[in-house]
Amino acid sequence: FSYPIPANEPVLNYAPGSMERATLKRVLAELKKEEIDIPMYIGAEEVRTNNKRSLHPPHERAHTLGFFHFGDEQHVKQAIDAALKVKETWSNTSWETRAHIFLKAADLIATKYRAHMNGTTMLGQSKTAYQAEIDSACELIDFLRFNVYFLTEIYKQQPISSPGMHNRTEWRALEGFVLAVTPFNFTAIAGNLPASAAMCGNVVVWKPADSQVYAAQMFMRIMKEAGLPDGVINLVYVEGAVLGDVCFSHPDFAGVHFTGSTAVFNNMWKTIGQNINKYKGYPRIVGETGGKDFVVAHKTADVDVVVTALARGAFEYQGQKCSAASRAYLPSNLAEEIKHKLVAEVKTMKMGSVEDFTNFMGAVIDEKSFDKIKGYLDNIDGTKAKILVGGKCDKTTGYFVEPTIIETDDPLYATMCEEIFGPVLTIYTYDADKFEEALQFVDSTSPYALTGAIISQDRAAVELATQKLRHSAGNFYINDKPTGAVVGQQPFGGGRASGTNDKAGSMINLYRWLSARTIKETF
Ligand code: GLU
Repeated sequence: FSYPIPANEPVLNYAPGSMERATLKRVLAELKKEEIDIPMYIGAEEVRTNNKRSLHPPHERAHTLGFFHFGDEQHVKQAIDAALKVKETWSNTSWETRAHIFLKAADLIATKYRAHMNGTTMLGQSKTAYQAEIDSACELIDFLRFNVYFLTEIYKQQPISSPGMHNRTEWRALEGFVLAVTPFNFTAIAGNLPASAAMCGNVVVWKPADSQVYAAQMFMRIMKEAGLPDGVINLVYVEGAVLGDVCFSHPDFAGVHFTGSTAVFNNMWKTIGQNINKYKGYPRIVGETGGKDFVVAHKTADVDVVVTALARGAFEYQGQKCSAASRAYLPSNLAEEIKHKLVAEVKTMKMGSVEDFTNFMGAVIDEKSFDKIKGYLDNIDGTKAKILVGGKCDKTTGYFVEPTIIETDDPLYATMCEEIFGPVLTIYTYDADKFEEALQFVDSTSPYALTGAIISQDRAAVELATQKLRHSAGNFYINDKPTGAVVGQQPFGGGRASGTNDKAGSMINLYRWLSARTIKETF
């Protein structure tokens, strides 16, 4: 089986009058008309319980999208059993057959269900049409196609042989089941975490964030339509603690593919450590966690590049990307001009329902997140930090937080160092002649190391930043915003408190779901 390197799925622009816009509008209206009843998918069963939870668009709290059936310990056990039952058959299924299922799913999303993936993501997660398109259509399709390509290349890797013998590598799936735990903020990640492990021949128990169930179940149904056998991926909705209790004490636990908060990942790691004697093997622990992503501008920076990097990097999708720009280091010679232009830009950003395509921003995901962001903003009293623009929060109709810029003269101020996960950017101005000192702050004032950007027209400054910030970010951007990694182009992931850096959408990630067996035959 061979599969050439794919092209990235083209991003549709949803311009007024375009066909994709008309289709998406129609699907949004259909989705809003029907209150969907969402089961868990365990083996061949659609499982319903007495514990139903409702789904609401974050930008329109009063509307009900539908209900999902919440499970308990029993359902997690059933999901593990269902997975293990098909393990043997699935891992023995030829790569060609497995690959075609995922390639078909990619095509189904690209053509038949594009508007449904985008529509459920827009309504469930409050993404604008463009933010949904780059996520639940393009990135998800890319993950599926590129991973088929990468895995095909991995399978080809074989050792050399000598006269009288033949050596080969069998790229086995892991022994046991893999757990996928996925975040609300990217539908592409929700799809990729279970799919990449399953593609390698693994069987998976998948728990999405509650606020993501709407788009997650859509992907699950597409995988089924593409021919994924029952039990290969099992979709459950349960409390995280219940999930952990059952999965992390199971002898067949083979690994976890996680995206979410650093705190949750640390807890998982500890629990897995405490249970290590219970398992058949050493589990694979793969996680992409928090970020406190920086933009550092040099005194030679092109001001407009800085402004665009910050406006888009900090506020697209309400700043709810692990990669979002949330701290900026501006050189004193350009700071006033940058702030002036940036504030003007922010004032043009329209916020409201994502169903109105002229809005640039929607709502933040839920009440907990709204309260956390508001807490940071309420704390600002003008002594250590002040609000340059924005700052208002209103949850009357939806969880709206204005795009907000904070200015501080303390590089250690809380909003310069801590992850907020909302539309909040903090700016610190440094002495333009002390660039190295600024780099030192960038590197040392946050525990995270996911993404970051240097904006400069001076090659020596770019080189210096690249060197000094070697471990400050797993994705480093020169003269660009720190968000929007494209599968196959910028493999994604960071180190330090940001995760295990097993680069999503690359061979590095896929190796983690494989366990090689070396076979030598003597003739
Ligand atoms: N890959 C996304 C980006 O580059 C961020 C993923 C995340 O938020 O976890 O913007």
